[in-house]
Formats: sequence, structure tokens, C-alpha cells
Amino acid sequence: MSILPQHKYYLARSPTHYPWHRKRVIFSATTTTTNPKSSPDQLTIEPQLVNPPNPVPSISSRPVLNDPSLQSTWSHRTWVATGCTTVLVSLAKGIVGAAHSHIWFEPMLAGYIGYILADLGSGVYHWGIDNYGNESTPIFGNQIEAFQGHHKWPWTITRRQFANNLHALARTVAFFVLPIDLVCNDPIVNSFVGVCAGCIMFSQQFHAWAHGTKSKLPPPVVALQDAGLLVSRSQHAAHHRQPYNNNYCIVSGVWNEFLDKNKVFEALEMALYFKLGVRPRSWSEPTSDWTEDAETTSQVAVQ
Ligand SMILES: [Zn+2]
Ligand SMILES: [Zn+2]
Repeated sequence: MSILPQHKYYLARSPTHYPWHRKRVIFSATTTTTNPKSSPDQLTIEPQLVNPPNPVPSISSRPVLNDPSLQSTWSHRTWVATGCTTVLVSLAKGIVGAAHSHIWFEPMLAGYIGYILADLGSGVYHWGIDNYGNESTPIFGNQIEAFQGHHKWPWTITRRQFANNLHALARTVAFFVLPIDLVCNDPIVNSFVGVCAGCIMFSQQFHAWAHGTKSKLPPPVVALQDAGLLVSRSQHAAHHRQPYNNNYCIVSGVWNEFLDKNKVFEALEMALYFKLGVRPRSWSEPTSDWTEDAETTSQVAVQ
């Protein structure tokens, strides 16, 4: 056990200054002889709260390795299993329908279009929750808060367990795809929906892989990233650097260059500002507060 003071940082919102102020808890190591049954040299760890956070939001706190907020629950796994089932049913219906009708080109083209549009959808969604709303926004609040935390501590996504990372999108996919599975028997529609919804659901996994190091990723994943079929590590790294307002797409990243070169999101931000008076977060907040806080060796030592 280390006897050095260990600092864990927590974050508390200020009502006037988003995003965060750091407070810290200092764990000091002392010896005690107050318990007669104890050895005189017994070490006790006494946490001393300095400027206690008030209150400490659990999701918003700086995660530590093996943080419970990064682990999957049975609820997460159930939603991912449900989402995967609806996607597989849609793909199966597409294949079976194509086999029965002997039409293969159109369903395959529909699946390809679904893959391409899923990347665009991931970019629009990511841009939206990066820039608008907050943790109390209905429906999207948790996702908005999670993505803000991701910008602050990008490394956490590589520690987040699979179902924990995918469950929110899996739930959305399940709700949208299940009714289509039940009523639609068109192989073209089924193929489009299956591929598009599957890519959107797994976009968070592709995102996690984009934060991985090449030597630790499975070789097929690296090959797909290098081929441009999954969002590359270098392309997504640019999203986490100044000016923090580009490379939002996280399926294949094929749309990123077009969207950023043509300033599509900047145009949308201007339109929303002039129509509704709402300023996107990227205009003001990506300052030093969004500086990437990489996983440090001291965090590993704490564990
Ligand atoms: Zn982002
Ligand atoms: Zn990221």
C-alpha cells in the first residue's frame, strides 16, 4: 500500500460557470494507537474533505479505473441484446426476402446506403448533443452529460464495458426497429434498416476503437480502420483537439471531410442562433477545460 497522499478529483457545477471546478479529497496516511487491540504501527487512512463538493454528481465525477459507472449492468446487457435481436431480425428478413424474390442488387445497395447514412446520422447526433442542451434535457440529458464527460476524460471510453457503452443507442434502435420488423416484409427496407440501425447502435463501439492504441486493438479492427471502413484513430483524434468543432462522424468517418470543408455544422449553428438565439457550446466552451485529460500512470497506481 502506498503511504503517499492520494488525490482524487471531483467536479462540482457552478451555477454561473460551466463546466466544472475541481475540488479534491486528500487521503492522508497516519499511524494510531487508539485501539488497544491494534498494533501501535497500524496504518489508518483518513479522508479529509477540502472544500467539499456540493453535491457530487456521480456521472460527472472524474472516473477512476474500474469505476462502477463504466461497468455494464444486467439492464445494459438486456437492452443491447434486444437491440441486436431487432437488427438481426431485420437483416435476416432482408436476406430471406431477397432469396425468395431473387432480387439481390437492390437490398445490397440499400444496405450500403444504410451504412453511409448511418455515418452521417452519427455525426448529426454527435454534433447536436455536443453543442446543445444539458444533463437535464429530456430524453437526451444522460447522453449529453456522458459526451461532455468524454471530452473531459476521453480515455474513459476505452475502459467502459461493452454493454455500458452501447445500451443507450441499443434502446433507441430497439424501439424504432421492432415495429418495422413486425410490419415490413420488403427486403430492400429490411436491409436498409438492419444495416443502418446496426451501424448506429455499434457506433459507440467504433468510437471506442478509435480511442484505442494500435498495438492493443484486434488486427481486423485496425485493418478496417486503415481501410476507412471504420472511423480511424487519427481522424477521431482531431475531434478531441482544438477547435473541438469537427470530425463528429463516428461510424466510418466518410462524411467528416465533406461536412467540415463545407462548414455544414457551422452553418447550422448560425441558422439556429439567428432563428432561436441559442449558442452552441463549441463557440465558447472548448477552452482549456476541454483539454484532453489523458489516463495517467498515477491513476493506475491508485488502483
Ligand atoms: Zn464530441
Ligand atoms: Zn471520442
